[in-house]
Amino acid sequence: MARRIGILGGTFNPVHIAHLRGALEVAEQLGLDELRLIPSARPPHREAPQATAEQRLAMVELAVAGELRLAVDDRELRRAKPSFTYDTLESVRGELAVDDQLFLLLGWDAFCGLPTWHRWQELLEHCHILVLQRPDADSEAPEALRDLLAARSVNDPQALAGAGGQIAFVWQTPLAVSATQIRHLLAEGRSVRFLVPDAVLAYIHAHGLYRGQTES
Ligand code: ATP
Repeated sequence: MARRIGILGGTFNPVHIAHLRGALEVAEQLGLDELRLIPSARPPHREAPQATAEQRLAMVELAVAGELRLAVDDRELRRAKPSFTYDTLESVRGELAVDDQLFLLLGWDAFCGLPTWHRWQELLEHCHILVLQRPDADSEAPEALRDLLAARSVNDPQALAGAGGQIAFVWQTPLAVSATQIRHLLAEGRSVRFLVPDAVLAYIHAHGLYRGQTES
């Protein structure tokens, strides 16, 4: 039987409740067999003084532990250089059966940035795209995406058919939480309790992450 696999990429610096609720709610709504969170690699000079790739991965692993619908996929961190989403999709697709359905989850802000991505017009050859609303982001779609939306979007995410090629907007509990906000709160010595799972909070404190740094 064809499987339904979702993937949510991100820096997860750190992973927070909006990532996790969005992923879980979409997995439930669409009856996904598995939703994989895929932490991205970043150029090493940008890691300090935040969290290393290994630490970001460890936090995602702690966050999804015990939640059977959510999994972690570390393939981007195992590569020598940062991967393009196109390459990741191709690599995941290569491990699936031809009729398995692959869903790429993108927050609205990430979706709006799509036209700057490597081979973005070919992403839909490998997957469907599910767009998550993001209450803390602008609402206008960029000009470059209008034709794509007109040609490929469907109203009902449940109606996405075939192995890929279409775009749907999904509703999930709107949570205006960002990793940037969490890093800022921690840098100011404030609490981020309830914005991240307790196990992630404990990890952040145990490793002294995001303390007293300045960033944009
Ligand atoms: P930062 O503030 O560091 O840019 P972030 O909170 O946006 O980080 P990312 O790791 O960059 O988190 O996001 C991974 C994916 O999750 C992206 O597709 C992003 O749009 C989506 N996402 C992040 N936060 C939310 C949110 N609050 N609601 C919906 N989608 C979100």
